[in-house]
Amino acid sequence: MRKKIIAANWKMNKTVGESMAFLDTFLLELGDERRVEVVIAPPFTALAKVSERLSASDRVKLAAQNMHWEKPGAFTGEISAEMLRELFVRYVILGHSERRTLFGETDETVNRKTRAALAASLRPILCVGETLEERDGGKVESVLERQLRLGLQGVSPEDMAELVVAYEPVWAIGTGRTASPAQAQEAHAFIRSQLASLGGKTVADKVRIQYGGSVKPGNAAELMSQPDIDGALVGGASLDARGFVEIVKNSN
Ligand code: PEP
Repeated sequence: MRKKIIAANWKMNKTVGESMAFLDTFLLELGDERRVEVVIAPPFTALAKVSERLSASDRVKLAAQNMHWEKPGAFTGEISAEMLRELFVRYVILGHSERRTLFGETDETVNRKTRAALAASLRPILCVGETLEERDGGKVESVLERQLRLGLQGVSPEDMAELVVAYEPVWAIGTGRTASPAQAQEAHAFIRSQLASLGGKTVADKVRIQYGGSVKPGNAAELMSQPDIDGALVGGASLDARGFVEIVKNSN
């Protein structure tokens, strides 16, 4: 049985003060919820304070929204795996479609980051998903197949078991348009079949596959009831503490 994993991707939102105010409400309202794994990915500037605040509880884990693949050195503006480890970061979101489309990330750079994260014992949340044009052109499976094959090149089956994959159809991110539970389930089952061909069925059965794209309190339960949907990566709706608690509670 895969434990559901619900992650908040705050993107370029929330100052340190706003992050603390969110946690005041969120941790109180979340109570002792342990059936679902909860992860928060604040911006880099808030990681240290959020980490300090979360260290008192083991209910919520910390994620980064990106990292660089190189060891510490002359890479202005970048953040290394070691820096994240020092702050007790457990997960790192890699290959988010905003990184791919706005910041030039490719399957190759996503692969470098994935391997570097795993080598540093950080668990990648590897984002994959098709654009609307690709969906309309009947290319969903070929896009997902390519992103997984290239993104996971050189990753051992043992490391692959540590992975979380986020299926995020680009047309559903921040648009208010959600994939129907059936559309999402179909893509998730395909992703699991690809993971089985890359790492074997035992590994594929362990990997949690999140859905991301306009998840809200009102649609979380139906999406999460699909057999291959093991959680959610939540953008906009994770910015509101009470709304995000509702998503977590509706997801089990
Ligand atoms: C995301 O960016 O990962 C995401 C799913 O965003 P939203 O929930 O706002 O669609």
